[in-house]
Amino acid sequence: MSEIKLPEKSIIVISGALLLIVLNLYILTQHSHFSVFLVIIALLVSGFLSDAFTGVAHFGFDYVLPYSLPILGPVAFEFNQHHDEPSLDPSSYGPNLTKGGYVSIPLSILLLILTIMTPKTHFWFWVEATFAGTTAWALFFHQIHAYAHMGSRLPPHVFKGKVEEIARLETKREQRLALAKLFETVPIPAPIRLLQRCGLILSPEKHNLHHIHFESNFSSINGWSDPLLNPLLRPVARRYKASRLRDDLTTNPTRKSLWT
Ligand SMILES: [Zn+2]
Ligand SMILES: [Zn+2]
Repeated sequence: MSEIKLPEKSIIVISGALLLIVLNLYILTQHSHFSVFLVIIALLVSGFLSDAFTGVAHFGFDYVLPYSLPILGPVAFEFNQHHDEPSLDPSSYGPNLTKGGYVSIPLSILLLILTIMTPKTHFWFWVEATFAGTTAWALFFHQIHAYAHMGSRLPPHVFKGKVEEIARLETKREQRLALAKLFETVPIPAPIRLLQRCGLILSPEKHNLHHIHFESNFSSINGWSDPLLNPLLRPVARRYKASRLRDDLTTNPTRKSLWT
């Protein structure tokens, strides 16, 4: 069976995702219970839920899903490749937003169906507004992830060397401060830097804690769900790492660690 591969960059996917988001937002404004305040709250709640979803999905791609799986397997391979080469280009808007579009479009279609099938009550307005928020976060998740990797603007060997140095620091707090200092030097656009500092989108110092040991901080949108997910996912990630390392050393005894 030939491998199914989705296009890496597609204007149709990006425009389709944007159109569906606008359409769903328009439908929401026509709802008898429409309220701007509720929409803002729903956007924040959806920020947390989407962040948690990306965290669990990222964990699955890093450790659970086999590379041989159709469609998702190559994505899992890409995730592990990203550990080896932790550089993403925020100026690659096409590929970054296309990836987001593949998640956002099915969610938007589900939301349209839900809107048609459900009564026009206060409760359902709330659910649909939260759902609409997730479609927007989904479209931008990979672009946000790429901004958290502005370290790619540093020569890769310099960046990797610095992260390895930081990994040797004893506490998470020291590591986080050192990462923040490292990213002070990279030219992140001012509005993006502001959103990162406010915690509305994922900051490099939060995300690169994931790139130190690949066993925590799996989320890719704003990191709000990490305090909840880290204690659950870290021990499982460590188990997977230990068992993979055991297998690897049996078949390839010269290889010292999992991702080097
Ligand atoms: Zn990862
Ligand atoms: Zn990353």
